[in-house]
Amino acid sequence: MPDRDGSLEVPFLPYGRQEIADADVKAVVEALCSGWLTTGPRVSEFEQAFAAQCGAGEGVAVNSGTAALHCAMRALRIKPGDEVIVPAITFAASANAALYEDGVPMFADIEPDTLLIDPASVAKKITPKTRAIVAVDYAGQPADYDALRALAKDRGIALIADACHAPGATYKGRKTGTLADISCFSFHPVKHLTTCEGGMALTENAAQAAHMRRFRNHGIDSDHRTREAKGAHAYDMAELGFNYRLPDVQCALGSAQLKRLPGWVAARQKIAGWYDEALAGMAEVLPLKTHRDRTNAHHLYVVRLADHIDRDRVFARLRAEGIGANVHYAPVYLHSHYRKLGYKKGLAPLAEAASRQILTLPMFPAMAGADVARVVAALERATA
Ligand SMILES: *Cc1c(COP(=O)(O)O)cnc(C)c1O
Repeated sequence: MPDRDGSLEVPFLPYGRQEIADADVKAVVEALCSGWLTTGPRVSEFEQAFAAQCGAGEGVAVNSGTAALHCAMRALRIKPGDEVIVPAITFAASANAALYEDGVPMFADIEPDTLLIDPASVAKKITPKTRAIVAVDYAGQPADYDALRALAKDRGIALIADACHAPGATYKGRKTGTLADISCFSFHPVKHLTTCEGGMALTENAAQAAHMRRFRNHGIDSDHRTREAKGAHAYDMAELGFNYRLPDVQCALGSAQLKRLPGWVAARQKIAGWYDEALAGMAEVLPLKTHRDRTNAHHLYVVRLADHIDRDRVFARLRAEGIGANVHYAPVYLHSHYRKLGYKKGLAPLAEAASRQILTLPMFPAMAGADVARVVAALERATA
């Protein structure tokens, strides 16, 4: 139960928080002293370990989840004017990645009780120009990949998973990282495991993986280490790429963190269970639903408040009690940059309605039952 002695000396409870252990520090120091700070052996070690843990063939490490999405757009050959269907409720990067290649994001609406991309809405957005669908595994629950695959196949439409919320989740027994043509992950500190900043693109397609490795390295087909090994100096820049490389020091951190991923996913599921149970009696606060054919990695714990509740007032009251509530997300197309591109209010009505009522509650593996009880008690007061 929460501390009810009236003390205000309670610590701030953030909505997410990384965990750094002695083993992480040791791995980072070893990498720092190894002679390879970047483009060294720890990059492929991390790529192979992460891909293997997800059951995927190839991993391409990059310096953010956003870079992974950009690599996916390039490897899938999104060209100027190509339409890319993205859910309206996601982090802006899911859609921005299409803009980087001069593609046109087309915003699909969401299922109100999961906030996942709604395949029925996707079907309505498909045109002869559609080249890709980005499925976002919102809050940690995989999207409906079978339904999306059925829409994509035979139409030359690629399927990209923005699985940044969902390492360790499953869809009909299959792991995230294997559900789309290319699956993208982020290692930002609020995500399941961190490399400070970082990301990875997973694919079964060796040619796509090679293309993404070139793209992350300016479009140059060999890196410093391979040239050293060959004793050669010549290289070719075959396309205009970027410097999206993830340094060895950060890959070392990622490999060390990866060992604890299964335990973290289990801890998040346990905490979500506590929330579900504690909120079951509150009519004003509805937890998002997890479909029976999926497991949820619970990057976020999101609730939807009843329509008559003023979400921003609840948000402010939780903050005043030291609880780091948050909102994920406003519809991407309502950002001023997208409005300048011509996107207008009303594109995804269910997403717009949901975005006014959702609230993200604190969720990270080290949370105790007392933390959950404190959040729920504060939520009870704030919604009364
Ligand atoms: C975090 C996140 C990204 C971007 O990851 P970065 O590593 O911050 O670039 C993309 N999509 C979603 C859904 C995310 O949560």
